[in-house]
Amino acid sequence: MFSHEFRTTSQELLPPEHSSWPAQGQGPIEFTKGERRTRFLLERHNGRMLRSLLLAPPGAGKGTQGARIAAIYGVSHIATGDLLREQVERCTPTGEAAVGYMARGDLAPDPLVMALVVERIAALEPPAGFVLDGFPRTIAQAEQAYAWGSEHDLTFHAVIALDVPEDQLVQRVVLRGETSCRGDDTAETVLRRIHLYAETSEPLLEFYRSRGILIEIDGTGTVEEVTERIRARLDALDLR
Ligand code: AMP
Repeated sequence: MFSHEFRTTSQELLPPEHSSWPAQGQGPIEFTKGERRTRFLLERHNGRMLRSLLLAPPGAGKGTQGARIAAIYGVSHIATGDLLREQVERCTPTGEAAVGYMARGDLAPDPLVMALVVERIAALEPPAGFVLDGFPRTIAQAEQAYAWGSEHDLTFHAVIALDVPEDQLVQRVVLRGETSCRGDDTAETVLRRIHLYAETSEPLLEFYRSRGILIEIDGTGTVEEVTERIRARLDALDLR
């Protein structure tokens, strides 16, 4: 029954029109638009919020799609690249430890990234829902994340893998580097980051495929087209 209820068109994922909810023995309670959306999604998913990971090489649109999917499902968008950049800007010990790796396009040390993610997720109001972007990035991180998630009943419902051809990735990142202040968005660094992804992150596809939670999405086309592809697949999930 639950999966039948969940299989709806994406239009139906919009919050209901009414701006108040009748409560027993009281007049109508006023809810903000955000609260209405969260309540609507919680009812739809039997009190559960989406817990997902976006897996994609640099330039595939992870950040953009992560923010859009998080907004649609009323959950937090947690991007480890952003968390690390924030630490670097604030000159914290974590930032100082990570900055060299990031500038070279290498991966920051696992314990440091894991601590940032755990702190961020542990701070979420239950039921915690999130789109993780950029973590786990290696099998070692995925195993640690799975161990922590199992212990806290917070394992992923879905892992969304965006597929974009390498020539388009380089083009997109170099273009982004011209308008952003990210020091690692250069032609040399992007190639290094793409190859590092192939080596360390692609094995994650099999890791999550074998757990039956991998959703593979064609990441080419407009931002809206890619979001719709992701949404169609997530709408069909039965969150448990
Ligand atoms: P991103 O914004 O996801 O491209 O990440 C930018 C940089 O942050 C990466 O090139 C890495 O140096 C570092 N980083 C982000 N996520 C991770 C992670 N899960 N493990 C290790 N390093 C990471």
